[in-house]
Amino acid sequence: MAAAVTEWFRANRRELPWREVDRRTGRRDPYRSLVSEFMLQQTQVSRVIERFGRFIERFPDVGALAAANEEDVLAAWAGLGYYRRARLLHAAAREIVARFGGRVPEDVEDLRTLPGVGRYTAGAMASMVFGRAEPLVDGNVVRVVLRVEGWEGAADDRGAVGAVWARAEELVRASESPGEFNEGLMEVGATVCGPGAARCGECPLARMCVARRLGVQGSIPRAKKAAVRRRVVHWCALVRDGRGRVLLERAPAGALWAGLWRLPTWEGSRVTGAELGARLGVGALEFAGEVKRQLSHRTVRLRLFRGTSGVRAVTGRKWVRVTDLERVGVSNAHLAAIALAMTAGGSDGKTD
Ligand code: SF4
Repeated sequence: MAAAVTEWFRANRRELPWREVDRRTGRRDPYRSLVSEFMLQQTQVSRVIERFGRFIERFPDVGALAAANEEDVLAAWAGLGYYRRARLLHAAAREIVARFGGRVPEDVEDLRTLPGVGRYTAGAMASMVFGRAEPLVDGNVVRVVLRVEGWEGAADDRGAVGAVWARAEELVRASESPGEFNEGLMEVGATVCGPGAARCGECPLARMCVARRLGVQGSIPRAKKAAVRRRVVHWCALVRDGRGRVLLERAPAGALWAGLWRLPTWEGSRVTGAELGARLGVGALEFAGEVKRQLSHRTVRLRLFRGTSGVRAVTGRKWVRVTDLERVGVSNAHLAAIALAMTAGGSDGKTD
């Protein structure tokens, strides 16, 4: 199995910016790989491709990232969502400088001491960058291994996932090229053995796949229990001045998108446009629409009100040019809210 996956991966791998091999060292750059692993944890490859180059340009090495302030890191992360990862990556860079002399550690146990680096990321770095025979398991690997072995279980079933880790370890230990095998197994799951349709005719594992032989690909893994999401409503005010600027505030610690800039926001019980205006010291605001976002554990509705004002920004708030919004670090949800409130109003229902 390991040989089939490795051979297939060599012929079918997608060219991605973080897969480039450094000619001097003959391997991937550990810092770039670490950044890409953090970005890819909960974000699609296509979106990471759009943001990765810009982030590396802004912070070209681990020292530059460690020395940066948090606001700049969050701004460079804007558009990727799940901002906790940006903070953890920042903290990891500081630890690498403080404890490892600025070199990303090669050993799995050392890697796992870094903030935000769990078993998967440590295995990915150790195998794909440093060539060590360490396993990794992500959602793609769980699906492929369960199907190839014909094992039942849901993708979030601890017993099933534990069995997949054990199998992944056996396989990577038997592989001649641990990094290519691990990455190949994930790539099979990402491009051939998808969660919806399995394209068995193109799969390097077809000959040994139990699920294919039994015709049960569609029912492995078993469906997960639906996540219960809490519903929250945020009341947001878009206030503009006459100079193409909008009033923003910093989301406080513990709030959604903490540390990023957002429209002045209140959470909780219903607020009218007149009340929002009074809280900001401006006239009554008019309703402008709603933006809805599905996050991992909650559904957030941003109820938008808008108006214009000549007020000065008070402490904790500032005026920002509309053209600078992406640069200062505003969440995708609030960027969408601003765009909506500045146009005709209405609603969207995208997932962030
Ligand atoms: S043969 Fe089909 S079900 Fe089995 S691993 Fe390949 S794509 Fe998935």
